Amino acid sequence: LLQLIRPLDRLGQLYRSIKQSLTDVEQMLTLLDQPAEVADAAGAGSLPKGPGRLRFEDVDFAYDPRRPVLNDVSFEVPPGRTLAIVGPSGAGKSTIGRLLFRFYDPTSGRITLDGADIGAVTQASLREAIAVVPQDAVLFNDTILYNLAFGRPSASTEEIEQAARQAQIHDFIASLPDGYETMVGERGLKLSGGEKQRVAIARAILKRPRLFLFDEATSALDSHTELAIQRSLREVSRGTTTLVIAHRLSTIVHADEILVLEDGCIAERGSHAALLNRGGAYAALWARQQADREAAD
Ligand code: ATP
Repeated sequence: LLQLIRPLDRLGQLYRSIKQSLTDVEQMLTLLDQPAEVADAAGAGSLPKGPGRLRFEDVDFAYDPRRPVLNDVSFEVPPGRTLAIVGPSGAGKSTIGRLLFRFYDPTSGRITLDGADIGAVTQASLREAIAVVPQDAVLFNDTILYNLAFGRPSASTEEIEQAARQAQIHDFIASLPDGYETMVGERGLKLSGGEKQRVAIARAILKRPRLFLFDEATSALDSHTELAIQRSLREVSRGTTTLVIAHRLSTIVHADEILVLEDGCIAERGSHAALLNRGGAYAALWARQQADREAAD
């Protein structure tokens, strides 16, 4: 019986892991109360290999036909580049992430990844190619090592440690008395929001995806944590196509392109410097966040 217990326990963990990964995605996309809307096209094949070129072409979308949410959204993220999306609450930023993950199909227009219409390939192959860093990653009641390895169960300890370094969480882990064997989750060490997000970033790095989708936490972080997350995000995005749904503009100063979304339309686009120069909505948002920061300091 004892010989049976360990494998059964692992099986239970695996089941929880699978459930958990779905939960992560669902949490990020706040889809818990929504039915699956899309099915694979008949005879759909796998997403063909490619360097990670993402295109939104004249995308319109509405959850309810009476109320458009995205209007004529077009952009391209070349392989290895970073695109950030900012804008007021309700502008449609997360909706772009949901369409990319194909929880819904556009009402018109299309989304392609390396030239393939994402509506024409299997959802499994599409989601395999994308690593999502959700706002609030959930940890299993297990060791930090186990929680990190979840990104790629076949990863070696060295690879896991390297991902943790890139995500700026290694030094923190190494400082714990039990290091990588520290138990976390409900019954173990409670990690802060910023630490959990860095664990999620390390998991995403281990997945070696073609595209990162980073949903920045809305909650305020202390400036030390924020800096660590910014650094880890820069590491992540180096060489891999990255889409950032941003709430704090300080995170995306280095993005190759920034889209300012307002009421589902792209109101402005350009680099941080170009948008500041323009003196429009982005410049106003930046000034407001700077003032808030100074007040907080
Ligand atoms: P925030 O910064 O607050 O997260 P956001 O820019 O990400 O906002 P979205 O979550 O994309 O905004 O929502 C865009 C619009 O779509 C909002 O008006 C929202 O109320 C609406 N919306 C979102 N999800 C649904 C849904 N499942 N059904 C109907 N309307 C929805």
